[in-house]
Amino acid sequence: MKFHDEIMRRRTFAIISHPDAGKTTLTEKFLLFGGAIQVAGAVKSNKIKKSATSDFMEIERQRGISVATSVMSFEYNGILINLLDTPGHKDFAEDTYRTLTAVDSVILVVDSVNGVEDQTRRLMEVCRMRDTPVIVFINKMDRDGKNRFDLLEEIEKELNIQLHPMTWPINSGKEFKGVYNLYDRNLRLFAANTKAEGDESIAITDLNDTVVEEMLGTADAAILREDVELVDGVNGELNAEDYLAAKVSPVFFGSAINNFGVKEMLDTFIRIAPTPQSRETSARKVDVEEAKLSGFVFKIHANLDPKHRDRIAFFRVCSGRFERNKYFHHVRLDKDVRFSNPYSFMARDKSVIEDAYAGDVVGLFDTGNFKIGDTLTEGEDFYFTGIPSFSPEIFKEVVNKDPMKTKQLEKGLMQLTDEGVAQLFTQFGGTKKIIGCVGELQFEVIQYRLLHEYGASVEFRALPFYKATWLTSEDPKKLHDFVRFKQANSALDKDGHDVYLAQSEWFLNTEISNNPDIKFHFTSEIH
Ligand code: GDP
Repeated sequence: MKFHDEIMRRRTFAIISHPDAGKTTLTEKFLLFGGAIQVAGAVKSNKIKKSATSDFMEIERQRGISVATSVMSFEYNGILINLLDTPGHKDFAEDTYRTLTAVDSVILVVDSVNGVEDQTRRLMEVCRMRDTPVIVFINKMDRDGKNRFDLLEEIEKELNIQLHPMTWPINSGKEFKGVYNLYDRNLRLFAANTKAEGDESIAITDLNDTVVEEMLGTADAAILREDVELVDGVNGELNAEDYLAAKVSPVFFGSAINNFGVKEMLDTFIRIAPTPQSRETSARKVDVEEAKLSGFVFKIHANLDPKHRDRIAFFRVCSGRFERNKYFHHVRLDKDVRFSNPYSFMARDKSVIEDAYAGDVVGLFDTGNFKIGDTLTEGEDFYFTGIPSFSPEIFKEVVNKDPMKTKQLEKGLMQLTDEGVAQLFTQFGGTKKIIGCVGELQFEVIQYRLLHEYGASVEFRALPFYKATWLTSEDPKKLHDFVRFKQANSALDKDGHDVYLAQSEWFLNTEISNNPDIKFHFTSEIH
């Protein structure tokens, strides 16, 4: 196949949702359609279900599942789909945000009963920052959900997006009768556990046809006609350009567990979803069709076996061709590296690959050469921009319990933070190490891994900070003075950037207004 065609047949995306909305279930139905799995129940949820009395091995085991399902590649109607999994647990939200830098579009699952939830909001914020095209799937229509119009309005308002219904539901819960496809003009009656094959939709050329009454009954037929008139009048045809520009989000209604409404969405997805996109770098925009390889590491996963310290770096190809055993330029380390066992994630056979193209994710065995954001090229020096680091929400000082193992501790902290498990700060002028995380669970994971993988024993002492902001100023002296004056709240991040650790929103706002010459940034790009 020609180079150009290889790129054009790829779609790389993620399914995102608040936990329990149905992401795992939907993923599984996609894989069934793609023939990547044969039976329902084959996809394990990567949800971390931690009880109050935590069991570290259980966390690790659950993390293990998330390695296995990190990327799932399959073919559907000649299109090669790379589906990137995102952890649902909010303590691992940063991992999810970074995964979103490696996709070209997303499908957002919303629970029709709960509507917009916390994680939905945060995830959409990240998508908006990057203008990622979004398709919305309103799930669990078999349950008594919110009124369809109210729900759409809630999603539009809360997520600040414009929706464009592609299908329209007839009732919900026990009364759920199916969906009318506004695009193909057909009616699909609800049936539980729809098979992957078969097409039971009924073509409706005219909604006023009496066949609609026969199918739905007089009352529901009338409601559907009214709804459709209203929705058609407002929306018209979907403008695919607006979707690709992230201005409009197509919406589908369905029930993932019943495999209902899923195929319509998948078919539309492969028709309209973006092919691998060109990407900005520190030097220039890299065109996806360029012949030379470029790409970046967006996720690193430790080997679960403590005897083997190697890790897997997930590398997104952005241009050119990745080849096994070929030397590529590791920009940060300024050295050439090659990989004898790169592997792909075709769900049916996880195998060593010979080559990969833009849009693909390659798994690279790593013995400590990579950190998140690292770039490989064929010689050029640049890095991909827009891989953000968000402010942690919980801060703790690292207390070394075993001074004999100080070296191991330092190494462990460096490596774990390279993996993106947490952020590491050093207090101004001192050596005090501060770990910042999004959730408590990460501290437990860090403590456990430091001990088991590095032999270092630590405790954590809580610190009264609530946010880290990165500081810049056009006037280096002003920045220098501020940092000195606010010693107790100043720190350096791992890359040596100045950070202000705020105790509360009030303190932060006060400092922001008192120091107009200093900029306080709420995210830091990793470079
Ligand atoms: P995730 O946390 O987003 O991955 O959610 P899961 O896919 O694990 O689903 C959460 C729960 O919702 C599970 O018990 C599913 O069986 C259930 N579920 C998923 N889809 C549907 C649906 O369409 N209808 C109903 N009633 N339940 C569903």
